[in-house]
Amino acid sequence: MTQIAVLGSTNMDLVAYVERAPQLGETVTGREFRTVPGGKGANQAIAAARAGATVSMIGAVGHDAYGVRMRETLEHSGVDTDSLRTIDCPSGTAHIVVDDEGGNAIVVIPGANGTVDHLAPGDEGVIASADTLLLQLEIPLPAVVAGAEAARRHGVRTILTPSPTRTLPSELLDNIDLLVANEREAAALADRADPRDAAADLLGLVPQVVVTLGAAGSLYLTRDAAPLVIPAPRVTAVDSTGAGDTFVGALAVALAEEKPIREALSWAAAAAALAVQREGASTSMPYRPEIEAQYT
Ligand code: ATP
Repeated sequence: MTQIAVLGSTNMDLVAYVERAPQLGETVTGREFRTVPGGKGANQAIAAARAGATVSMIGAVGHDAYGVRMRETLEHSGVDTDSLRTIDCPSGTAHIVVDDEGGNAIVVIPGANGTVDHLAPGDEGVIASADTLLLQLEIPLPAVVAGAEAARRHGVRTILTPSPTRTLPSELLDNIDLLVANEREAAALADRADPRDAAADLLGLVPQVVVTLGAAGSLYLTRDAAPLVIPAPRVTAVDSTGAGDTFVGALAVALAEEKPIREALSWAAAAAALAVQREGASTSMPYRPEIEAQYT
């Protein structure tokens, strides 16, 4: 089985379902409230584990009920949590509003994730034994840089999701093999509105770029071949939360299994299309047999 390491965040998603999201200063009455374990790191770990990889999660949860539930949730999906530390502070939380169109708005409070600012003893060994390291930006940047550098030392592929968007230092970018950004992240990073222009600019920073385009699929650029546009399966979306993380987790597994890039991107699109048809983030992520059935 392929081995994936994830260095990143765990958050409890506190999700309010509403007909229409409130504007600033406005109060609306919602339909329903749910607590769903999430965080981009944990979500990508769960997506990759369900897609068929052996996954280790490196990060931290708080010393509270949310932390216990997040660890259990990761383990339930088959993720190894030996490198997930429990810290004496609140767990990270993400406050999410989902509207009837399936759109979402999110506020993240880092909590325990904020303490993950370096690699702990043993983390480098976990990274070294992986095929691929998945990175996002919901933990302090020094740890993300240290993880990418450790991966490079051991010849481990690195995939970065630049979320939340921030300026990326060269010591990070120099150690990233593949950047996977959604349209908004790509536009912000490159300061270009058009996704194709943004992707082309980002190719100056890293050797491979994927820009995800929601229902329109994804765009792949590399320095030595023509761009690829990969369509998404036509489905009825009910909640796009976690679509991007499902896509990245599944893509990492497909690439680690040495699927050709076009096939890997279509496989990731099949996984994400399944996720958007269900509510929630980690709860909506498909298992490998479902992805295989959707893909063929
Ligand atoms: P999110 O923040 O909602 O998790 P994102 O903004 O990071 O997602 P998107 O570009 O919206 O990322 O979606 C990622 C991938 O999920 C797309 O490339 C596509 O393959 C799939 N996807 C998203 N929305 C749809 C949809 N409505 N129908 C089919 N596939 C979708």
